[in-house]
Amino acid sequence: MENVIIIGTGCAGFTAAIYTGRANLSPLILSGSQPGGQLTTTTEVENFPGFPEGIMGPQLMMNMQAQAERFGARIEYTSVASVKKTSEGHFEITSEDGTVRQARAVIVATGASPKHLGLPNEKSLIGHGLTSCATCDGAFYRNVPVCVIGGGDSACEEAGFLTKFASKVYLIHRRDVLRASKIMADRALANPKIEPVWTSTVREYRPDEKGEMRAVELTNLITGEKSELEVKCVFVAIGHVPNAAFLGDLVDRDEGGYILQTSGTRTKTEGLFAAGDVADHVYRQAITAAGQGCAAALEAERYLAALGVH
Ligand code: NAP
Repeated sequence: MENVIIIGTGCAGFTAAIYTGRANLSPLILSGSQPGGQLTTTTEVENFPGFPEGIMGPQLMMNMQAQAERFGARIEYTSVASVKKTSEGHFEITSEDGTVRQARAVIVATGASPKHLGLPNEKSLIGHGLTSCATCDGAFYRNVPVCVIGGGDSACEEAGFLTKFASKVYLIHRRDVLRASKIMADRALANPKIEPVWTSTVREYRPDEKGEMRAVELTNLITGEKSELEVKCVFVAIGHVPNAAFLGDLVDRDEGGYILQTSGTRTKTEGLFAAGDVADHVYRQAITAAGQGCAAALEAERYLAALGVH
């Protein structure tokens, strides 16, 4: 029986591991499908305190993992399919490969995954000119036009990054004002390679005969006018879905599917804590996720101490 299993290896998960590791609880971390979490798909992180010159996202996550391992955290590369609480009061965590692990406490730090528009041929185009990760795929689209869908910080950041490669970056947004913070919006709109396409939505992805993205069909939401825009890749940046479905009835969720914490990082199930983007649709920053990971570790530590585990 493990003292504590931490599910997820983003900023929240690794911070929870550092704290529970230093508390001698020998945490076991289950990596999830994207080891290192969302920061592994980004480039430079400029707003994580302690790095005045910025730090690359993947490097920051490798540092966090090394720091957690230094204090005795163990990591297994697996995705969790379900969590149950037994009548004896401990948790059974079942991986997608069928392995069952037991723990006295669980910290859920599974983050959130990028949303897609839900268009019919989306699945077949992912990896063929449809993606939600400019850092991963941007360099494949050199000297060709691409588009980004969305108007938030992610869309602006991705559009800026893509101008290093693409001949033109269309920023397609459903309104005529960006949601992004002023600094990010100003930077994007001042970039001569970025062309905003306002009050428009993509209703169709049009592949070529080889199944690669060729164009999108745009609809102007004010005039209803339809047009075709030729792009070799579509980068979708319209927000995220929290990864909490595998918890079943153990947690309550808000209308967006984010876990509702009862107080601090506690959930409605005693011994089950939630930290980071899986429970936060407001701040969603690396540093706030790390802060919640710390809080979850301290609360799990107290919970275990009350059970007699020190
Ligand atoms: P977001 O702020 O939720 O923005 C999502 C964007 O997608 C919005 O502009 C939204 O339009 C649009 N959208 C949503 N659903 C859509 C749909 N079905 N069709 C078309 N457009 C749709 O998400 P985000 O940009 O990923 O940012 C998430 C959080 O991370 C924010 O707190 C952000 O500040 C933070 N972040 C920070 C940085 C940074 O500081 N370096 C970088 C990236 C993200 P509306 O505007 O009309 O709602």
